[in-house]
Amino acid sequence: MQNKNSRKMANNPRTAVLSIGNELLAGSTLNRNMSLIGQKLAEFGVEPELQISVPDTASKLTEALEILCSKPGLVISTGGLGPTSDDITKKVIATFFGLKLRRDKATEERIRRRVQSYWRNRGAGSIPASVFNQADLIPGAETVPNEVGTAPGFIIRDRKRKVIVLVLPGPPSEAMPMLDRSIEDLVKEAGLPVQSCRRILTSGLPESLVERITEEILDGAPSPLPAYCASADGTRIYLKSKDSKMIEAKALALEKKLGINLITRGAENIFEEIILILKERGQTLSAAESCTGGLLAKRITDIPGSSEVFKGAIVSYDNNIKEKILGVNRKTIQKHGAVSAECAEEMLNGAKKLFNTNALVSITGIAGPGGGTKTKPVGLVFIGTSYRGKCEIRRHVFGGARGQVRERAAATAMNQLKQMILF
Ligand code: AMP
Ligand code: MG
Repeated sequence: MQNKNSRKMANNPRTAVLSIGNELLAGSTLNRNMSLIGQKLAEFGVEPELQISVPDTASKLTEALEILCSKPGLVISTGGLGPTSDDITKKVIATFFGLKLRRDKATEERIRRRVQSYWRNRGAGSIPASVFNQADLIPGAETVPNEVGTAPGFIIRDRKRKVIVLVLPGPPSEAMPMLDRSIEDLVKEAGLPVQSCRRILTSGLPESLVERITEEILDGAPSPLPAYCASADGTRIYLKSKDSKMIEAKALALEKKLGINLITRGAENIFEEIILILKERGQTLSAAESCTGGLLAKRITDIPGSSEVFKGAIVSYDNNIKEKILGVNRKTIQKHGAVSAECAEEMLNGAKKLFNTNALVSITGIAGPGGGTKTKPVGLVFIGTSYRGKCEIRRHVFGGARGQVRERAAATAMNQLKQMILF
């Protein structure tokens, strides 16, 4: 995809990302493209310098283009390439660069072939003329084929400004494969400054502790530069430097120091790692969930191939179900409450009878925002784990809102199980 007219760009070229669409600013659509583009660029060691979101308004889009194209580099835009009247991206970008749109017959035909059966099946008559607006291309711009949808993308190279603009459609399922196919060449062509980046995944440690361990290993050196990204699943560490060998040496030392809190086996998170560990050992897993309402089962069944290990879970949200299905003793609940170590243990035993797996998890707690008391506050969660006859119940108090308490409970249950399996 390298253009024959291309040459390396000087003056510290930068990368900028532009998101176009009213829905993004209104908040009704989450700007996933921004996040996905950032992640894709990170794979190539490129960091965007600027991100701008604008509505589908010609003046706002022009304003953004003036800022984004004021310095040499690469601009990646998504959105506004559809057939409806609010999709103005192509026209505005063409005008900005002093270019014109022209109907492309081959693209028109391709769009016709793609959509005609849809319109015929709907009995809606002929294809609306607006659909073919997507066949208006900018002569001289390189077309980026769209293999998933109808709107092609394109690349404009402005030699005077030393700017390359990659224009992609809005739907992430269309834009991301198009970006995948063009990004490597564009990073080279724009001469973007690249850094190596190494990602290390941790779980079961607070972010501040992860940072302290990392700082110890890096020992005040100016490079590699660490960055952290915390979520309920754990903290991701990113080490960045131009020196990839040095990054690798530091990363290995850090991984050693993290010990059991390091996510291993190439897993993306603790859920995936548990599945891989149990798979290696030929062991099976099941769960009895209360306050997480099936979240643990969801996270596990998100993983392709988890059926080899995971047998199922009971969502025993109501006390009656805890008694009837899991065989929790009514007296246990009366005496200690459903949120208690005793109940968590009986939930484990009930799951063992039902599923007969080698590894088991039970979770019962108060996710909030209501339902807390002085002795049993919101965020209190009892987690039971059992592995090949060993059994452990731990009391946790998680901070955060309802969603976070539930996410933390599910991830912590996996951490507790990992410790039990590996020690
Ligand atoms: P388009 O017609 O190219 O403007 O985009 C069509 C659809 O793509 C929109 O209705 C959104 O659902 C989706 N979309 C557009 N921009 C984004 C974005 N930045 N992140 C996620 N989805 C988007
Ligand atoms: Mg749009």
